[in-house]
Amino acid sequence: MLARIQTAVSLLYPARCLGCGALVESDFGLCGSCWRETSFVGGTVCESCGVALPGAHDGHRLECDDCMDHPHPWSHGRAALVYEGRARQMILALKHGDRPEIARPAGRWMAHAARAILRPGMIAVPVPLHWSRFVKRRYNQSALLAQSVARELEIDVVPDMLQRIKRTPMLEGKSPAQRFETLANAIRVHPNRAAQLPGRPVLLVDDVMTTGATLGACARVCMANGAEDVRVLTLARVAKDA
Ligand SMILES: [Zn+2]
Ligand SMILES: [Zn+2]
Repeated sequence: MLARIQTAVSLLYPARCLGCGALVESDFGLCGSCWRETSFVGGTVCESCGVALPGAHDGHRLECDDCMDHPHPWSHGRAALVYEGRARQMILALKHGDRPEIARPAGRWMAHAARAILRPGMIAVPVPLHWSRFVKRRYNQSALLAQSVARELEIDVVPDMLQRIKRTPMLEGKSPAQRFETLANAIRVHPNRAAQLPGRPVLLVDDVMTTGATLGACARVCMANGAEDVRVLTLARVAKDA
C-alpha cells in the first residue's frame, strides 16, 4: 500500500536532481554528472575539523596544522562535502534559495560521515539562527540538517537547544580574535531545554565550517552547560586552500 502511494507520489512529483534539476530515477538526490562534480570528503581526515589529509590513516589521532595550532573546543569533527563547485551551489540554494528539500539527501550524506564519531546517547543540536534571520529565511537550514541527520542515525534531536540572543554581523573578513569577541554572549542554551544537556554527548550540526568560530562558540556553551562531549558535523568543509 505504502509502496503504491509512493509510486503515485513520484509520478506526480518526479525526483529532480538537486544540482541541476534534471529528472533522476531514484530519490538519491543527484544525477550522474552532478554526482561526479560533487566532492565528497573521503579517505584520511583531520579528526578535529574533518578536512581531508594526504596519506593513509595509521590508527593515531591525526589533525591538520590549523587544528594543532588553534585547538577547537570540541573533540571530533566530520564533514560530508568539500565546499566547492556543485556542493557550494547546493548549500547556497539551501541557505538562501528556499530549497529545504536538499536537507533530506544531505542528511543522508552527513549521517554517513558522522558514523565514525557517533556516541551512545548522542543528541543532535543545530547551530541557531537569530530570529530576525529566521523570519526572513523561514527556516533554519542547520535545524533541517540536524533533523535529517538524527532521523538517519536514529538519535535524539533538539532543534531549539541553542538560541542566538544577539544578532551578530557576518564574520567574513574578521580576525579570529574579532570573531570570538563578536560571538561571545551571543549564544545561550534555551532555558526550557537546559535540563536535557548535562552528561550527554552532543553532535553539533551546521551547514558549512569555515574557521569554526560559530561552531566553537556553540560548543563552549554546550560544555559550560554540562554536555559530556561535543562533536561537530557539517554538510561541507571549506578546503584549506580556498
Ligand atoms: Zn544534476
Ligand atoms: Zn583540522
